[in-house]
Order: sequence, then C-alpha cells, then structure tokens
Amino acid sequence: MSKILVINCGSSSLKYQLIDMENESVLAKGLCERIGIDGSLLTHKVDGKPDYVDESDLPNHQVAVEKVLKALVDPEVGVIQSVDEIAAIGHRVLHGGTKYSDSIIVNDDVKKVIRECFDLGPLHNPANLIGIEAAEAAMPGKPNVAVFDTAFGMGMDEYAYTYAIPHEYLEKYGVRRYGFHGTSHKFVSGEALKFANLDPKKGKVIVCHLGNGSSVSASIGGRCVDTSMGLTPLEGLIMGTRSGDIDPAVVQFICNHEKIDVNEMLNILNKKSGYLGMSGGLSSDNRDIAKAQKEGNHLADVAMTASRYRVAKYIGAYTAAMNGVDAIVFTAGIGENDGEFRAEVCSYLGYLGVEIDPEANKARGKRVVLSTPGSKVKVLLIPTNEELAIARETKELTNC
Ligand code: ADP
Repeated sequence: MSKILVINCGSSSLKYQLIDMENESVLAKGLCERIGIDGSLLTHKVDGKPDYVDESDLPNHQVAVEKVLKALVDPEVGVIQSVDEIAAIGHRVLHGGTKYSDSIIVNDDVKKVIRECFDLGPLHNPANLIGIEAAEAAMPGKPNVAVFDTAFGMGMDEYAYTYAIPHEYLEKYGVRRYGFHGTSHKFVSGEALKFANLDPKKGKVIVCHLGNGSSVSASIGGRCVDTSMGLTPLEGLIMGTRSGDIDPAVVQFICNHEKIDVNEMLNILNKKSGYLGMSGGLSSDNRDIAKAQKEGNHLADVAMTASRYRVAKYIGAYTAAMNGVDAIVFTAGIGENDGEFRAEVCSYLGYLGVEIDPEANKARGKRVVLSTPGSKVKVLLIPTNEELAIARETKELTNC
C-alpha cells in the first residue's frame, strides 16, 4: 500500500499522477479537460502503452475523479487491480492563508480554512476544495492531504512579508505577502542543499522557478527568507502574461485614461501583460519571444532582455537579504530548457564570482552543475517535480 494519487484541480481541469512511493516511480498520469464544458476529455498515460483517451461527458469534478479511478483499474490501460491499492490522496491547494505553514491531513477544519481563503485564491481554492470533496466521496475513508502553495512563504519574517501600507489592512483582511510556487521552491531548494553538499541548516539557496508563471525564492537551510510573489501571483518577475512589479499608480493612471475600472485593469496586468503585452501581443511563450528576438523584432528583444534583467535584480536583492548565497538554481520550463536565458542572467552576476561552464549549460531537463569548479557560487539546474513533492508530503503525514 505505497501508492499515492496526486490531484491538482483547476476550475475546469484535473491533473493526476499515481506514484509508487516504493521507488517514487510514476505508474500513470493524466488530465481531465473541459470539465463542465462541451467537449470534455480525459487523457490517461502509462509508460510503454498508447495514450488512452475518453471523450465522454465530464459534467463535474466528481465524475472526473470517478473516470480517473476507472482508468486506473481498467484491465487494458490500468495500473492497479483495485482502488484499495491507493493508500492516500495528495492535493495541491493554492492558498492556506496565514493558518498553514505546512501540509496537513484534511478534516472539516482544514476545509473551512480552504473555504475562508476563497477570496485570496478565487480561481483555484474553490476548485481545489471540489477536488478534495470529490476524492472523499469516491474513496471514502482514505486520507486526503492538502499541500499548500503558500506554505513555504510562511517562513518569511514579518519585515519581509509586510507591505508598507496601513497596518489595519493586514489585521482586517490578511493583506500581506504570501508567495506562491511554494511546493516547487521547497522541493528544489531541499534537493539543492543535498546535491551541492551544503550545510542542511545554513546553506543559502536562491531558486529561480521560471515558467509561464515565474518566481524567485531565497532560503536558508530550507526556510524561506523571501520570495517574489506577494498577496497574489502578480508580484515579482516578468511572466508570460503577468506584469510582475509595477508602480501601483500605473493602475489609476491607465484606468483614468482608458475609462476602465480596477478589475479590468487587474485582468490586463494578469492576462495581457508580461511577454504578451511587452511584445505587442506577439506571444506569452518564451520560445516565441526568443525566436522573434533573434529575427530582429525590437519589442521581443526588450521583453526578453527585461525579463532576464529582472531575474538578475532579484538574485542581487536576495543575495543581500541573506548576506551571501551558496547556490543559485534554475528550474521550470524556461529554467530547465533555455541555456541562453540562464547564461544571460548569470552574465549580471560576475561580481558574485559566478562563472558558468558553457558546455554544462547546454543541459536540458536534467540535474546538473552549470558552474565551473572555480565559480564562487554553485549554479545548478534541478528539474522541479511538484507532484513528487506532494506525494512525499502525503506519505510523510499518512505514514503509508
Ligand atoms: P507553467 O508555469 O505553465 O507550468 P512551464 O514550467 O511549463 O510553465 O514553462 C513554460 C515556459 O517554458 C514557456 O514560456 C516555454 O516557452 C518555456 N520553454 C519550454 N521549453 C523551452 C525551450 N526548449 N526553450 C526555451 N523555453 C522553453
């Protein structure tokens, strides 16, 4: 009984992986798309077998979980004999507010907190709770564990998480910095401590999680000192469609000129900015922007250069925050695959004694040391694995 089902529910999607914790191997994984919308689709993947696709209706998440379990025990495409083989279920949950700084076994109190955080994570928390309740209904009696994306950021000191706005907003509404991508930052920084042989209690690590959504974290001995996302994932780096840091007065200025309200403006900052906005609508995808930059597109060049420049600025700031850094780690879609991006970021870090080995930096998607033996700071590529991180936390809490 060492198999753990990991579930990541979105408002109309459900991603899953069944992981055998004996050897941390993925037995099956898949995706339910367009739940509650026309054209629902379940794609189930097992290594060595053709993908199994089920196009029947997925009216809600409950039905989606039932179809996933059916695929997992299917005589043809299944990987287990019976649902009883699943020991526990780990759920990705976006927001745990200030209540949870660690993963926790779900009970009524936990569900209440997830519900109380609906306004902090309006797109994700309701879907995450639906996923938990669907799993509870489909597998009664099995432990469900909530793994919060905000948990890692709870390690920040008060002076790091407090916005310089009237204190009453923190007290009344919990307006503070929380940080996101916490499961990834915790996993990757923990792996970096081991991989680079750093002091497990004192090792200073900066993780650059660079994907569609991007964030940087600084941690000492695995405790988060600072991280670039804030009350919401909008703060920090330039992302695919998010602006990251801007002067808040920009909001009022554009609202007044364009005669739009603040909700519309926030939608623009979340969905139409970043690479997409800076490139004049060209693309939110790093590969497209890199290609256009090479072809001489000026706006793409500015977007790409600004994005790398901002990562470098955060690394500089976080090195100061920790009074030093032992390892800088790149992860997620861009961090794991784009050697040029990594090299350009590191070109700002000569003053720290960072030296990249161009041969090693050709690596993609695998764990490797990117820096030269003489580099004063180790630079690493460590692929993130949020599903495995969720499964490990679930195993630890449920002793299965
Ligand atoms: P998400 O935040 O959606 O999980 P990912 O971590 O999958 O995002 O990262 C997606 C980003 O990674 C995209 O901008 C994509 O262009 C970029 N990316 C993926 N592969 C490459 C590659 N080979 N070269 C450059 N960028 C890449």
